[in-house]
Parts: sequence; C-alpha cells; structure tokens
Amino acid sequence: MSPPRYKRILLKLSGEVLMGQHQFGIDPEFVAQLAQEVKAAKDTGLEICLVIGGGNIFRGMAGAAKGMDRAQADYMGMLATVMNALAMQNALENLGVHTRVQSAIQMDTVCEPVIRRRAERHLDKGRIVIFAAGVGSPYFTTDSGAALRAAEMNCDALFKGTSVDGVYDSDPKINAAAKRYETVDYDTVLASNLKVMDASAVALCRDNDIPIIVFSIREQGNLARVLAGTGRQTIVQKGA
Ligand code: UDP
Repeated sequence: MSPPRYKRILLKLSGEVLMGQHQFGIDPEFVAQLAQEVKAAKDTGLEICLVIGGGNIFRGMAGAAKGMDRAQADYMGMLATVMNALAMQNALENLGVHTRVQSAIQMDTVCEPVIRRRAERHLDKGRIVIFAAGVGSPYFTTDSGAALRAAEMNCDALFKGTSVDGVYDSDPKINAAAKRYETVDYDTVLASNLKVMDASAVALCRDNDIPIIVFSIREQGNLARVLAGTGRQTIVQKGA
C-alpha cells in the first residue's frame, strides 16, 4: 500500500521536545535540528501549519497544583507557547524558510493575530504558519489548539511529534508488555482513555475526520520517515 499523499498538514510539537537533553526551557541547538526536519518536510512540497506546546516552560495544571489560580496559570502556559513559537520561527528563518507566527492572544508588536484567511494566504505563498497560544482560552491545551487549527485550515492530517513513538494500550514505562497500536479508532482512544491527546482534541479530529499520527520527533529523521509511511507511528483514525 502506498503511503497517503498529503497536501497540507498540521504538525504539533510538544514543548518538551524543545528542551533537547535539558530538563527545562529551550535548547537552541535542538530547535535548530528540529527546524531542519521541518524544512526537509516542507521541501517535499507540503504546506505546513505548526503548533508548538509550552510544557518545557510552564503548564497550567502544574501551577494550579501548587496553589495558583488555574486560569491565571493557563494564561502563563499560553504565553510560554508564544516564546516557543518565536524560537522555532527564528530557527526556521535561519534556514531561509519564510514563516509567520499567529497568536490566539493578540500581541501586535510580536506577531500577527490568528486570521484564518490571512493564514491561507501565507500558505499559498509558501510560508509556514506557526500558530501560538493554543485556542487562546484557559482549560485547554495546545493539542486542542492543534486540532482546531487542523480543522479550520483544512489540513489532511494532524502529526503529533512527541517523546513517545506512538499510542500504547498501557503505559510502557510501567508495563514492559505494553502493546503499541499501528492504528486505532478515535472511539477506542476515548473509551479506553488512551494517552494520545486530551479528549476534546481527539473528539474534534474524529468529528472532522482528521487522522492523528503520533510519532517520536526526538529520533532524528523520523518526521521524513513518518511522512513517507515508513516510520514508527500510531495512526488514530475512523474504523481502525
Ligand atoms: N494552554 C491553555 N489553553 C490553550 C493552550 C495551552 O490554557 O489553548 C496552557 C495550559 O496551561 C498548558 C500550557 O498552556 O498546560 C502549555 O501547553 P501544553 O501543556 O499543551 O504544552 P505541551 O504539553 O504540548 O508541551
């Protein structure tokens, strides 16, 4: 079976991958390496929308667990995603890739606001659009932001590049016999509470028939392999 041909994809990168080997923050060398991979994907002719998390800097839930107001902490998390988006923009532009950052929280001197039709125009012109600040509201995650942008930008698939190489039936760190799915249905993910993305993100993809491809972005060259259909991955889709 030949791999699916995508025209436009949404690539979601967890904030934690930007840390490289560090425990916190942004590792510019690793971000540069990630940018190379994104550029290589773009050079195959793909239109790319990027969403980057913020977990390497701040997570609202972690702040709330330490007594902060949840919404306030979530806004801090959203601001963290803007920093990551700017770091990735910088790395991509160092490679000569044209990009625009659009943030769901307006920050006029730093980036554009999210304007769908404008984002379309950027993609038409061969730019990568980096969507920052998730959906712009607390109590959500950047996974939901990724699903939302994938739907509104009519992306053919959502690629979730993270630290694990797919979706398992139980936590592989705890259970050595955990099984990785090649493909799995949205409803199985939701009913079994499998750790892929938060439920609202999975439901949005299900309702809009957007396949979710979960893969490890830490492995060098894996994005290209996954796009070619030869990588280690799990595909969440209808009727799997
Ligand atoms: N966040 C939010 N609304 C959004 C997107 C993100 O409140 O639409 C906050 C939330 O606190 C979250 C943090 O931003 O914990 C960082 O995003 P996320 O945890 O999704 O990052 P990732 O796990 O992908 O690194």
